[in-house]
Amino acid sequence: MDAREFFQKVVVPRYTKFVRRRRSRPLPRPLPCPICKSPAQELDRTGDATGFDCPMHGKFKVANTIVAEECNRRRWEAALRKAKLRANPWEVPLVMSGDLFW
Ligand SMILES: [Zn+2]
Repeated sequence: MDAREFFQKVVVPRYTKFVRRRRSRPLPRPLPCPICKSPAQELDRTGDATGFDCPMHGKFKVANTIVAEECNRRRWEAALRKAKLRANPWEVPLVMSGDLFW
């Protein structure tokens, strides 16, 4: 097997496999918690909200209209408390922009 043959029969298939494997695994991806910035897990993304599973704050969803950087942590904590009060026990609380800005 010469160098060219080796490249086509061994290197290329391995490389292609590697690329395919990487592409086929987009989830789960770590996502920083918008409140405490610790590495949270992204939950299923619904149309208008992004879900987080944070080691500190548990599971909650944030409406996509909220820009996380606009809020300080105290506001976030208060908003999450409100969202938890509003949600039914079997639901993942959803933080809406109205909880942060009032
Ligand atoms: Zn958190």
